[in-house]
Amino acid sequence: MRQQQTPSPSTASLLPQRSTVTRGKYSITDFEIKRTLGTGSFGRVHLVRSKYNRLYYAIKVLKKAQVVHMKQVEHTNDERRMLKLVDHPFLIRIWGTFQDSHSLFMVMDYIEGGELFSLLRRSQRFPNPVAKFYAAQVTLALEYLHSHNIIYRDLKPENILLDRKGHIRITDFGFAKEVPDVTYTMCGTPDYIAPEVIARKAYNKSVDWWSLGILIFEMLTGYTPFYDQTPMRTYEKVLQCEVRYPNYILPEARDLLSNLVTRDLTRRLGNLVNGSADVKNHPWFGEVDWDRVLSKRIDTPYEPPIRHAGDASLFEHYPEEELDYGVQTNDDFGYLFPDF
Ligand code: AMP
Repeated sequence: MRQQQTPSPSTASLLPQRSTVTRGKYSITDFEIKRTLGTGSFGRVHLVRSKYNRLYYAIKVLKKAQVVHMKQVEHTNDERRMLKLVDHPFLIRIWGTFQDSHSLFMVMDYIEGGELFSLLRRSQRFPNPVAKFYAAQVTLALEYLHSHNIIYRDLKPENILLDRKGHIRITDFGFAKEVPDVTYTMCGTPDYIAPEVIARKAYNKSVDWWSLGILIFEMLTGYTPFYDQTPMRTYEKVLQCEVRYPNYILPEARDLLSNLVTRDLTRRLGNLVNGSADVKNHPWFGEVDWDRVLSKRIDTPYEPPIRHAGDASLFEHYPEEELDYGVQTNDDFGYLFPDF
C-alpha cells in the first residue's frame, strides 16, 4: 500500500505539484452553486444549476483532508461505487463524480421535496396508512440493495427524501457496502443502530431490517424507541431492547415491529430463510400491492408544495461558508480516491 505523506506547510511549496485526477466530463465550473441543502460530518450538499442544460442537481462535496482524518477513505470510495451501481426508483441517482485538490464531488439528482424527517417533525406522527406507504417503499429499496449484496447501514428519516410527487428517494450511501456474508465495522446513527453492531459482533443485512423497525416505530409515534440524552445511554437501551409500545399502535403494526426490533436474529423478519418476503407478507402490509408500489401507481399521501424548478424552500437553512471549490494546488490525498 502507498504510504500517506502529509508535508508540513513549510515544505509543501517545495514539492513538485501533483495534478488532481479528474476523470469524467464534469468540473465545478460547469455549475452555478446555489444554497446548501444539508451538511454532513465531512462536507455539505449544495443545490446547483448546470450552466449547460439549466437543470438543477444536488452536489455532495466532501473535504478530502476531513475524510482522511475521520478514517472514511474506504467508506467514501464505497459510497461512490455503490451509487454508480444502483438503479432503482426509490434510490438516489448519481450522474458523475470529480475532484479538485481539496474536495470530492458527487453530482446527483436534486430531490425537491425535502427530508421525510422534516415532514415527520411537522406532522408529529403519521397515521397508520401514511407510515405504511413510506415503509413499503423503503422495504422495496432494501430488498433491492440486499439482492445486490449491499447493506445500507444508515436508514433514518434524514436520509429519505421526497420527490415532487411525494415518492421516496433514499440518499447518503456513505455507509453502504457490498457485503456477501458478514462484516464488523461499527457505523450508523445511535438511535437506529442494531444491537449486534454495538456488541461488535459479525453482522449482515439484518441490521437494515432492524433500522426499518425503528423507522416504522418513529413514523407511528414521532420518536425513536431507544432515545436518550447521550449516545452511550442510547446504546445501553438498544442492547436491552425493551420497547414500550403506545396503545395507539395497532396490534398488526406492533407484531411487525416486535419481529423487526428484536435482538433475536433467528426471529428477525428479513433475516430468515424467506428474506424480504417475510416482511412483505406480514399482515400489517396485508393490503399492499407491491407491484403498484414499485411502479409508483399509488397516490402519495403528501405532495410537496414545490413552486418552481430549483425551489429549495422545503429544506432547512444552513449557514453558508466561503468555498474554495476548483482549487488546483498540491493535492496530498488525491491518490486515495483514484475513481473520482
Ligand atoms: P448526506 O451528507 O448525503 O447525508 O446529505 C446531507 C443532506 O443533504 C441530506 O439529509 C439531505 O437533506 C440533503 N441531500 C442529500 N442529497 C440530496 C439530493 N440528492 N437532493 C436534495 N437534497 C439532498
